Amino acid sequence: MSDRTWSPATTAVTAGRPEHRPDAPLNAPITMASTYVATGDLEYGRYGNPTWAAFEEALGALEGGRCLAFASGLATVSTVLDLVGQGAAVVAPRHAYNGTIMQLADLEARGRLTARLVDITDTDAVVKACDDAALVWLESPTNPALEIAEIETIAAAAHDAGAYVVVDNTFATPLRQRPLTMGADLVVHSATKYLSGHADVVLGALVTTDDQLYDVLKARRDLVGAIPGTLESWLALRGLRTLHLRVDRSESNATELARRLGDHPAVAEVRYPGFGGIVSVVLAGGADAADLVTRSTSLWVHATSLGGVESTLERRRRWKTEPTTIPDGLVRLSVGIEDVEDLWADLASALELI
Ligand SMILES: *Cc1c(COP(=O)(O)O)cnc(C)c1O
Repeated sequence: MSDRTWSPATTAVTAGRPEHRPDAPLNAPITMASTYVATGDLEYGRYGNPTWAAFEEALGALEGGRCLAFASGLATVSTVLDLVGQGAAVVAPRHAYNGTIMQLADLEARGRLTARLVDITDTDAVVKACDDAALVWLESPTNPALEIAEIETIAAAAHDAGAYVVVDNTFATPLRQRPLTMGADLVVHSATKYLSGHADVVLGALVTTDDQLYDVLKARRDLVGAIPGTLESWLALRGLRTLHLRVDRSESNATELARRLGDHPAVAEVRYPGFGGIVSVVLAGGADAADLVTRSTSLWVHATSLGGVESTLERRRRWKTEPTTIPDGLVRLSVGIEDVEDLWADLASALELI
């Protein structure tokens, strides 16, 4: 047998499979179980499930740590935020995913913690904010502003201050960024997005290299019960098998569309970090122009969420909870794996209407 370490593309295909023995299925079975015969490791359906474990093994292998799956991305976020002590300070991006911002605001309003919202592109300011913090939450790129954090520098400063470092890696996926190798203690995912990839699952996950942290978080999941669904875990694992193909294709489509959008007179600003499948555009005509475009495409679906094989778009400020520092006319494009010329033709014809 080769002693070569597999590349991520190979790991995406091979990890979390049953052992190769005669008559073993190639795929992890869907094990529907609320209880198990006593005196083993699992005991009860809230404590573990072989189908969750197969997904966790695969995502853990891709991120380089031990994984726990949760009922949703936000169930993961709330479990992690619950780690901090009463009244502790949490540093977080002012443009983090709006559900994360809303959880922080809710916890702060109830006196549970203090949120220090920062511009994550201003590394000096973020480093200053780490002082006496218990947790530094990063999201990079951010949703939907697509800002990038200097993870290594911030993680080092956070650790000097005695804080844990968490990175929401939903946008980059482990194929474009592995935060655990950059100093993060924990990675969180909305597995609803690229990992599952087919707009048919809501699921979350975290990955850590810290065994003690893993045990604490596993105990929290057992206690609070924000467990993943069995079928969702199976579908996410099935989606993960093609993650590398989907990310490559979305990214090449997104790169080309970002270039063409940059030359379009209706577009005031294109935000594209240079990798991944999300492009945000700020339309010169503001909210009205953005609403017109999202109403006028036929191939692109007007829908929230992202990271699926199908291209979707939405004006983010249509949500009352979106930070008001996100431009009113910003449209987030989740670029799928369709033919790029078809995507461009549909988008360009909607832009012509402005
Ligand atoms: C969607 C999203 C979440 C929340 O995940 P759910 O699965 O919808 O609960 C968290 N972070 C980011 C960056 C997201 O895009």
